[in-house]
Amino acid sequence: MATVKGDVHDIGKNIVGVVLQCNNYEVIDLGVMVPASKILDTARSESVDIIGLSGLITPSLDEMCHVAAEMERTGFEVPLLIGGATTSKVHTAVKIHPNYSRGQVVYVTDASRAVGVCSRLLSDRAAYEREVAAEYTAVAASYLRGQGEKTRVALADARANRHAIDWAAVTPPAPNHLGLRSLSIPLETLVPFIDWTPFFSAWEIKGAYPRVLSDERYGEAARSLFADAQAMLSDMVREKWLTAKGVIGLWPAQADGDDIIVYGEDGKPLTRLHTLRQQMVRDGSRANVALSDFVAPVGGPADYIGGFCVTAGLGEEEVAARFDAAHDDYGKILSQALADRLAEAFAEYAHRLIRREIWGYAADEDFTPEELISEAYQGIRPAPGYPAQPDHTEKHTLFDLLEAEARTGVSLTESCAMWPASSVSGLYFSHPESFYFGLGKIERDQVEDYARRKGWTVDEAERWLAPVLNYRPAEYLVAA
Ligand code: SAH
Repeated sequence: MATVKGDVHDIGKNIVGVVLQCNNYEVIDLGVMVPASKILDTARSESVDIIGLSGLITPSLDEMCHVAAEMERTGFEVPLLIGGATTSKVHTAVKIHPNYSRGQVVYVTDASRAVGVCSRLLSDRAAYEREVAAEYTAVAASYLRGQGEKTRVALADARANRHAIDWAAVTPPAPNHLGLRSLSIPLETLVPFIDWTPFFSAWEIKGAYPRVLSDERYGEAARSLFADAQAMLSDMVREKWLTAKGVIGLWPAQADGDDIIVYGEDGKPLTRLHTLRQQMVRDGSRANVALSDFVAPVGGPADYIGGFCVTAGLGEEEVAARFDAAHDDYGKILSQALADRLAEAFAEYAHRLIRREIWGYAADEDFTPEELISEAYQGIRPAPGYPAQPDHTEKHTLFDLLEAEARTGVSLTESCAMWPASSVSGLYFSHPESFYFGLGKIERDQVEDYARRKGWTVDEAERWLAPVLNYRPAEYLVAA
């Protein structure tokens, strides 16, 4: 198994590996960012029975289709398992499986299912594959029937129904400091900002912290995991296993339609951020939102935008290698999950610093860590690749603005994943009316408009925006 090319996350895959090994499967784990050729060469030379692919970010969905097509082209017949955060049964049935007619592609919901799936594939493969194939045919048919039924409003109409902020009512707050600031934060400073709930979900333990510790079903496992986590975290902090570095920045900005123009301190435009607008049918009470709605437009009052890139992952590879050398899979996964938590805690810490001091619009803010986690504060920090702006490539613009690679050591893979994996980036919006939303599916008119604004061909736009298209682009029509 492997995390596909361009993607860097492997906690889920590592857990699957441990679960399978505990059930006496021999697992060859190729790690992260693995090209198709390496996966297939290894599968052939080791005569594997099953190949498993993992991926967290949406561009990996395309790479998985590519691996499936390569398996077809090079004569493989072994089953192909698919797992990871953005994968789904529908995507597996509709997009991945059609590339691989010689074998069955199977979507594995979570690590706990992996053993059941593998054991059926190895004991009564033919019957199991017939079941899965029948189910996926039905899933694909129902998905395709549903396509085109979801009406969208025209981009022009969506724009007319934007989230209209009354810019005359409140003057946007001017930052205390513009420009970039590098941050180098001791791990112990970040610990109080850790949100533990996602730590448990990384281990497939469902429930909110701290309640999960006394949960009837999961409590015992949660308590023992939490004790191990606390022990390792204290070693991590004391012995400085990881280095946390970040950069944050604030710039003058103006919305220009669905784009945001970012200016230097000299007033000259530095770059343009691109946002996407919801196109669902609204009944008049709700807007068709784009992130650009939260910044004052050209001709309005002076306004600003911020950006950040923080990492707690400097050193995480060495730590993982140490656990690998000791054949300690559990320790490795624990260290990765903790590094992820520290990166998110860093994002929380940096955002507070922005609000209280650097932008300074909430100088008196004094929230508890719990209140911070529940986002009680004013403003948002949406991340490219997340529901409000699913286009991962906007990270390139953000990274350029922030000089992120030079200042933090974080780089972007060809799929725009951040490396090291325990890194977080995003934009800052200050307006009290700003909120997180999901873009939903968008229409061809917006994809064409967006391609023009990004300097892309429509094909390129359709590739990067594939998960949010409300229509089937030409390439899929050919395949169908
Ligand atoms: N306390 C959590 C925070 C991470 S999830 C943790 O430790 O894991 C919340 C973050 O995801 C937000 O701060 C934002 O950066 C991003 N996010 C959530 N919803 C989003 C959306 N709809 N659009 C863009 N970014 C979003």
